[in-house]
This record gives sequence, structure tokens and C-alpha cells, in this order.
Amino acid sequence: TMSFQLPNLPYNFEALEPHIDSKTMQIHHGKHHAGYTNKLNAALEGTDMEGKAIEDILKNLDVNDSAVRNNGGGYFNHCLFWEIMGPNCGGNPKGTLANSIDKSFGSFDEFKSKFSTAAATRFGSGWAWLCVDSEGGLEVCSTANQDNPLMPGECGKTPILGLDVWEHAYYLNYQNRRPDYIEAFFRVVNWDAVSEKYNKGKEL
Ligand code: MN
Repeated sequence: TMSFQLPNLPYNFEALEPHIDSKTMQIHHGKHHAGYTNKLNAALEGTDMEGKAIEDILKNLDVNDSAVRNNGGGYFNHCLFWEIMGPNCGGNPKGTLANSIDKSFGSFDEFKSKFSTAAATRFGSGWAWLCVDSEGGLEVCSTANQDNPLMPGECGKTPILGLDVWEHAYYLNYQNRRPDYIEAFFRVVNWDAVSEKYNKGKEL
């Protein structure tokens, strides 16, 4: 069939401990992401969107179609989220991405501060993003709920780093301490994976 599949995590559930706990990863991947995937497939069945790439579905979304908006965003956002984290990661980006971060934000620390503020000040549920444009320029933005930068009405650039700030992403370990979770996220960012997305994204 042409339906979307829940991707396997590229590491074990406990691989991101102590920064992101195993129980949260199990529920987040096995219940939340699985739910978005199944509901997306159900929403697409029999429509002309069936069989299209998820990026095309999001870019051409009818924003009033809440089933595809919420579950298509949820499917894509979590696929990206798992890919840009990993064990023995964190630190600073290197190479072209590092240079572009310096050019766009002044320094890595200034980027980190801007991204962390976007994540901390997103009221309720949503995501913080780092996006690239076709010329390699970078921008920080945030979206509500499961919305995504590719959707109509958002920045329209290609997301290369995303942080889930729904309570389901951190509440078991951090309760109301979202800023601590944001700081912990930077200990598990896989900058090699983000660099790969940067290099692909700037050519789109
Ligand atoms: Mn989530």
C-alpha cells in the first residue's frame, strides 16, 4: 500500500537518557507518533492526496482540513524530531552549517538563545524550528499544535531542526520545567543529521 509507516527510532528508547527518559520515548514514539501516522492514513484514504509525498501534502494543505493538518503535521514533525537527536551528540555544529548559523544569527550562542526563547514562549502546545531558505539563509520560528513551517501561512522555509514542546514530550521527567527540557535537548542534538538536512534544504 502507499500508506505512511511509523519509522523505527534510529537508536534505542533509553539512548537519550538522562536528557530524555526511556518511558517518555516509548510513549511518544509508540503511542503519539503511531497515532498521528494511523490517523493521517485514514484521513488520506480515497482522496487525491493519497500516495503523495508528505512535504507536498503539507505545502498544499487546505488549512481547514483539520484531520490532515493535525495528523500530517504530527507525522512529519516527529519523523524529523527522531532524526535530529542521538546519543553521544550535542555540542556545536561544524562546517557549512556552523558558518551559516554565525552569518544568520551572529554566533551559535545567539542562535541557541533565539531558538530557546521561541520554544519557551510558544504558549500551549507546539514546536520551535530552525529553517533554511533556498540560498542557505537560516531563520528561527515556532508553530502551534502540529503545524509545520511548510504549511500555508507559516514561514514556508524548510525545517532542519525542530523541538517538540508539547507536554507529552517532557512532562514525565521535567513536569512544568520546560526551560530545563529545552536545555537538555541541546545535549542530544545530532548536528551531523541537521547538517545533512541543511545541505539538502538549501537546494530546494
Ligand atoms: Mn510529540
